[in-house]
Amino acid sequence: MIELVGLSLPALSKVVMEGGFPKFRAKQIMDYIYQRHIFSMDEMLQLPQGMRTWLQAHCTITVPTVVKESTSSDGNTKKLLLRFSDGNQVETVLMRQHYGNSVCLSSQVGCAMGCIFCASTTEGLFRNLTVAEIVGQLLLFESIIQEEVHSIVVMGSGEPLQNFENTLEALRFIHEKESFNIGYRRMTVSTCGLVPKIYEFADQGLPITLALSLHATTDTTRKAIMPIGATYALQDVLDAVSEYYKKTERRVTFEYILIKDVNASEKEAHELGQIAKKFPHCNVNLIPVNGNEHINLYKPAMKAMQDFKRIVESYGVSVTIRKEMGDEIQAACGQLKIQHQQSLKEGM
Ligand code: SAH
Repeated sequence: MIELVGLSLPALSKVVMEGGFPKFRAKQIMDYIYQRHIFSMDEMLQLPQGMRTWLQAHCTITVPTVVKESTSSDGNTKKLLLRFSDGNQVETVLMRQHYGNSVCLSSQVGCAMGCIFCASTTEGLFRNLTVAEIVGQLLLFESIIQEEVHSIVVMGSGEPLQNFENTLEALRFIHEKESFNIGYRRMTVSTCGLVPKIYEFADQGLPITLALSLHATTDTTRKAIMPIGATYALQDVLDAVSEYYKKTERRVTFEYILIKDVNASEKEAHELGQIAKKFPHCNVNLIPVNGNEHINLYKPAMKAMQDFKRIVESYGVSVTIRKEMGDEIQAACGQLKIQHQQSLKEGM
């Protein structure tokens, strides 16, 4: 069976022509799927009956199913727990921002990276998502909200640069005008810092924003909270990010989780300022750690976070403290999934 979700217009045209149908039918099929959100070939009534029968025999249109949906009380954050055909589940989050709808996509089921603060990695990596599954998350979201999505961030479960080929192919597809028509400048890929892959990503020459999960200012602290820190030294990661900036001219985002007594001292704020000021126009995004009973880490007091922000800003760097939009509905990485599994266990 040929999976149609994530198939570009040229590839779909080839499928259609090999089936003995005229090329223009491919565009019609894409309209049905991506503009009208019709996922059943039976309902593609502009196609001749014979073609619908042929499509049903040779092709599939697979979108994930919703296991659980939660919406924050202000309605601005909506989170879906999605299930793929093999039973694996991931989370996808919609955030309504002042500039439009932003969707956070997952790239893997689980994650191999082992960062101590992250709920997605507690059970390790299950598998990579396919192109259709990455695209399917966005497709399902648009079909539910019936609104256009303005931007996407690949910041859900998984390490996108470890599923490099599929993630890139999905982003190229999402960029196409026949599918979602989302510009590369409206896409962000977040990585824990896989150095060789950052260079490879830079070589693609696409103006996608790179977000680096920095989270520490020294190798010692980074290694203690992110196992990847033992493979790649902080300076090597920063060199790779710098190369990415040079090649794409996209300003870099540094994500920095604030964890009380771990990485949030004034000294570390100064060190972060020193690091960031070397990157022109970069953005530092401070993220109060989203702890819960499974993750025994705490965010600093509000005043401490604001002081931290002011120190970094004193180096001429642009800094934001991420709004905790998802907190109330467990929107941080992997948390909804864990909560759901927990409630299933309790119910048994
Ligand atoms: N593997 C990629 C993308 C997934 S993580 C990466 O490491 O960047 C996406 C972002 O969510 C990262 O910045 C990560 O550090 C953050 N995150 C993970 N767990 C979190 C938690 N408990 N609280 C706040 N942010 C968290």
